[in-house]
Amino acid sequence: MDNLPEIFFCGDPHGEFSQINTAAREHKPAAMVILGDLQPPDSLEKVLEEALAFTDIWWIPGNHDTDTDAFYDRLWKSPLAAHELEGRVGMVAGLRIAGLGGVFRGQIWMPDGEPNYDSVSAFLKRIGRNNAWRGGVPRRHRTSIFPSVYENLCRQHADILVTHEAPACHRKGFSAIDQLATKLHVRWLFHGHQHESISYGRYSGMWVRAVGLRGIVNLRGEEVVESQIDPKDAAALQARGELMLGENGEEAFAVLQDDFGNVRMEARKIAQPWRAGDQDQIPNKPEKG
Ligand SMILES: [Zn+2]
Repeated sequence: MDNLPEIFFCGDPHGEFSQINTAAREHKPAAMVILGDLQPPDSLEKVLEEALAFTDIWWIPGNHDTDTDAFYDRLWKSPLAAHELEGRVGMVAGLRIAGLGGVFRGQIWMPDGEPNYDSVSAFLKRIGRNNAWRGGVPRRHRTSIFPSVYENLCRQHADILVTHEAPACHRKGFSAIDQLATKLHVRWLFHGHQHESISYGRYSGMWVRAVGLRGIVNLRGEEVVESQIDPKDAAALQARGELMLGENGEEAFAVLQDDFGNVRMEARKIAQPWRAGDQDQIPNKPEKG
């Protein structure tokens, strides 16, 4: 395929959308796909109003998108809810993109273990009506991966898989994601959640790319917008000698290693700390990513 469409993949925004609006205006890609943890400060179509004038926006949810009622409503009550790729294959700029958002949670299913519940209905039957949220699954578990959704996606075919969770080539990844990608016969896999920008190269017969915090990459895996460093990771990276702080304390130089073992340094911005949830709601137990 020589004439690949220009599709951008956007790493966890965590409430910041200016990089997406700017990249849409400057590059006018055919489509952009957001890899979860959006936590929009307003309804999604409003925070992406500028981008929507230039491109088509698609998304999957991350674990933090159900931290509060407000985040939930700004996503799933937005007109852009129709462009959610969760648990399905959508035709995006001429390519088939499969999406699996959310995370594996032990209460439902932690691969490679046996699931506690196969489906939403089995879970609802067990927890009872009093524990339901808006008549259905508790809010938090609306970003938990249920086996039935996963299995259904396994039976389809796609060109690209986008996930929030990482595949097994990441140290915190899951081989269940690899298996899904293999069954879908995808050529590319893009994931978020880990707040790391990693070009894994070819893995398990496909091109795999981790898109970092607020970073944006194209289908070839090239960075269109540099990712930022998670402030929670900065100290540990510094201790390991993988990060050197600039004079203003906000700019940092990441020590990066390529596939051939060559080490280089790159300037990266350290993100300002963000809130997991809104002040009007006590967020669920915080999760990494
Ligand atoms: Zn995240």
